[in-house]
Amino acid sequence: MSDCLFCKIIAGEIPSKKLYEDELCYAFYDIDPQAPTHFLVVPKEHISGPSAVTEENAAVVGHIYAVIAKLASELKLENGYRVVANCGADGGQTVGHLHFHVLAGRSLAWPPG
Ligand code: 5GP
Ligand code: ZN
Repeated sequence: MSDCLFCKIIAGEIPSKKLYEDELCYAFYDIDPQAPTHFLVVPKEHISGPSAVTEENAAVVGHIYAVIAKLASELKLENGYRVVANCGADGGQTVGHLHFHVLAGRSLAWPPG
């Protein structure tokens, strides 16, 4: 999508601190980290958010979770981490391209505020 921030980051039109890339997904550090480690993993395909996941495009979600497990191991996040996908206004979604936050490096509150 031409006017999507994360599509532009994936295309390299907007710079990002890249952590990982393959044919299906792209991982980069969040510009406004909420934990000592905070990165985002996004599908290269433009999917507008969790509510736009369908039986047809859902395979990338499983792939992204496998990538997250691999990155967490490489980054030695032995104490654990949280994976978050915000959806819509009440969910706190601000960018309309499906993304999975990975937060680690401190104890995270539950339930979230
Ligand atoms: P959301 O609020 O939609 O769940 O998450 C969007 C995330 O994208 C936020 O954590 C925000 O800091 C991050 N973000 C917004 N713009 C940029 C950007 O230009 N570069 C990077 N690396 N992260 C961004
Ligand atoms: Zn997009």
